[in-house]
Amino acid sequence: MALVNLKDILNAAQRQHYAVGAFNVVSLESLQAILEAATKTRSPVILNVAEVHFKYVDLETSSPAIRRAAQKAPVPVALHLDHGVSFEAVMRALRAGFTSLMFDGSTCAYEENVEKTRQIVKMAHAIGVTVEAELGHVGGAEGSSEAAEDKGLFTDPKQAEDFVLRTQVDALAVAIGSAHGLYKAKPQLDFARLSEIRQAVGVPLVLHGGSGIPDDDFRRAIQLGISKINVYTEMAQIACRRIREIMERDPSFISFPDLLIAAREAMRDLVMEKIAVFGAKDVCAAPNSCASCPGCAE
Ligand SMILES: [Zn+2]
Repeated sequence: MALVNLKDILNAAQRQHYAVGAFNVVSLESLQAILEAATKTRSPVILNVAEVHFKYVDLETSSPAIRRAAQKAPVPVALHLDHGVSFEAVMRALRAGFTSLMFDGSTCAYEENVEKTRQIVKMAHAIGVTVEAELGHVGGAEGSSEAAEDKGLFTDPKQAEDFVLRTQVDALAVAIGSAHGLYKAKPQLDFARLSEIRQAVGVPLVLHGGSGIPDDDFRRAIQLGISKINVYTEMAQIACRRIREIMERDPSFISFPDLLIAAREAMRDLVMEKIAVFGAKDVCAAPNSCASCPGCAE
């Protein structure tokens, strides 16, 4: 099936009130886990490769394999640069055949974020690549499993309207109380703010820092307009836990590939659970079930 961009899968999600999961690829096992989960749940999926993870995923070497695996999957898959902070990372992802990218200018001053995002959107759109940007700032250590240190700066709905209009982004990551990494206390999402942002902008909204948010909060956020949810920390956590269990049971265990398989299966099961909570299970089961997705239209 087709490699698609964010527009292809998020517009249908927005219309039908489910969210597409975006899960990080940090190794071959995580790639396999995510695609297996999407296949089993018959759900579209987004493969996130974060710039901070380029040390684990050599972009030029790995992208052909990731693209090939995505094309072979029986569901639509977007290959998305997660938190592209540098211009260099954005260009490398474009060259490597990514269908989508996030440019994260959230630590820049507002006008600088607008200007940089606008230029990247212009460039990406010229070759059919979609762009997600971030306004406000989602706290915590991006793309890592370190504890969230702060709650970040929340997105201002009025500014969001101006930002989307001027940059022409395809999706907007909002800061409404979620954070990257592990939560120290239960996150308090600002649902009223989310509703206001939803009314101010038309593009699909993205929730970062999905690890540790209660299922009911996910459902409420999706009803209020979240169409893409990023999850990474919980995947790393469950893979480590599974490996630790095996090693504790048998400290002399030496079959390294079997540890990787166990980790892969644990991540796959977690991704399947998230897809179900996000309401995306079986959306690819019936032909034309998500009208704008080229996969379903074939
Ligand atoms: Zn993020």
